[in-house]
Amino acid sequence: MRIVLVGPPGAGKGTQAAYLAENLSIPHISTGDLFRANISQGTELGKQAKAYMDAGRLVPDEVTIGMAEDRLLQPDAARGFLLDGFPRNVGQAQALDAFLAKTKVSLDAVLDLEVPEEEVVKRIAGRRLCRNDGSHVFHVEYNPPADDNVCDTCGGELYQRSDDTEEAVRIRLEEYHSKTEPIIDYYKQQGLVRTIPALGKVAEVTQRAMDALQREA
Ligand code: AMP
Repeated sequence: MRIVLVGPPGAGKGTQAAYLAENLSIPHISTGDLFRANISQGTELGKQAKAYMDAGRLVPDEVTIGMAEDRLLQPDAARGFLLDGFPRNVGQAQALDAFLAKTKVSLDAVLDLEVPEEEVVKRIAGRRLCRNDGSHVFHVEYNPPADDNVCDTCGGELYQRSDDTEEAVRIRLEEYHSKTEPIIDYYKQQGLVRTIPALGKVAEVTQRAMDALQREA
């Protein structure tokens, strides 16, 4: 299956994407994780992206689209993928459609994770990520690690993202409403959107998403 996951920052995209990708045996492709990996490896692409990310702004399309397409060309994505954080504006959605059309494939579904705004802010403030693997995500209150600052899954060091500050979160939400939300209408016109209420236990949300994938949009 070829799936796009959409939702505001803090909706639980990374957490859900990891479970869904495993259930469906497809790679989880997160442009945020790809940027963070480039930053920690000190690449040119990472240097270009860092200032935008720290400010909570979208990285320009010229950088982002090429990076996403390179990843989609890897052999493991040939039979399906779960995109998390891409596309994030209508231009990127059009570029993705054109890219897929070249190999005569198309998306199967767009999962829209819905969360109230006050919940988003609480979730982001307590979020902790593992340095070894961005899909190992914890929350100081909702999903605390057994040992502070240590990942339960792999023992890696937990950290708080540099763009999880109050100011960057406010800007990320603005970017989401003005630039990313319009892609939901874009995909509605293609009949692809399944809306998933994303409050509740992680496993319940995963189940809702799996059920929604079985249904017609
Ligand atoms: P995420 O991990 O998905 O929350 O992404 C973190 C940050 O990476 C975003 O706030 C953007 O600065 C950047 N980013 C990730 N994906 C994209 C994208 N598709 N387009 C532009 N910027 C992106």
